[in-house]
This record gives sequence, structure tokens and C-alpha cells, in this order.
Amino acid sequence: MKTCKKCNETKSLELFSKNKASKDGKQVNCKACNKAHKASIKEETKAYGKVYYNIPANKAAKKASDKAYYEAKKLPYHIVYALPDFRNDERAYCGVTDNPHYRMARHKQQGNNTQGWFILGVFVDREEALIAEDKYHEQGYCGAKHWEKS
Ligand SMILES: [Zn+2]
Repeated sequence: MKTCKKCNETKSLELFSKNKASKDGKQVNCKACNKAHKASIKEETKAYGKVYYNIPANKAAKKASDKAYYEAKKLPYHIVYALPDFRNDERAYCGVTDNPHYRMARHKQQGNNTQGWFILGVFVDREEALIAEDKYHEQGYCGAKHWEKS
């Protein structure tokens, strides 16, 4: 048991996050207090981020770090993937990516449901993947049409 410095409640140790630097290996404030604090400064943090990333050097550093992260997770081929229930209305979506790790994170950010995503096809050539994707769209999968047959 440990007493939280913030709310003064005595709680079980699992209710405190880890802190390697402290004697008992736990943070001084309980998880609930940390969560409440984080929520209370959310707008402030957002405003700070806006100012911070408006500075060209910081913006460039973030862009470079995002790009390095993207490159590290990139596959040497293009996959046609499906989200079976992407808007939680049982409609399936399909898309193409060479970076499913990044793509699924983006889908989540956009409020889509990525649960149960699966691979419909794997292609070395991106155009071939897009053509395959459009065939799935014709079969009823949602998503943007990328490839127009000429
Ligand atoms: Zn507390």
C-alpha cells in the first residue's frame, strides 16, 4: 500500500505507475491523479505543441523523425488490405499500403476500426496493387478509387 501525494488516499501498489528512479519503484502520485492531471492540461499541451512545431527547426526535426520512423517500418512490397468493419457498420473497406503499421495507426487516428484487418493480396508493383484494389471496390469494398482504366 502507498499513499498518493496528491489525493492523500492510500491505495494498492498496482494503482501507481512505475518510476525506476524512486526507492519503491513507483511514482508519488497515483494513476488516477496522473490521468486527471494529464486531462487538465490537455488544451495547454496542444497549444504548446502548436507553438513548438511552428518553429521551423522543430518542424523539420519532427518531419525527419516521422520519415525515419515510416521508412523503418516500410515493407518492400505493397499490400491490398481490408478492414472488415471499418466504420462499425459492418461495411468492409480496402486500401493499399507499403506500411501497414503506419496505415493502421492513421486509420485509428481517423476514428476507423482496424480490428481484424487482413491481407487480400501482395504485390511488388504499386500500380498492380491499385488495380487489384479497384477490383475489390467493384465487389463492394468501400474506399477511394485510385486507378482509372484508360
Ligand atoms: Zn491520487
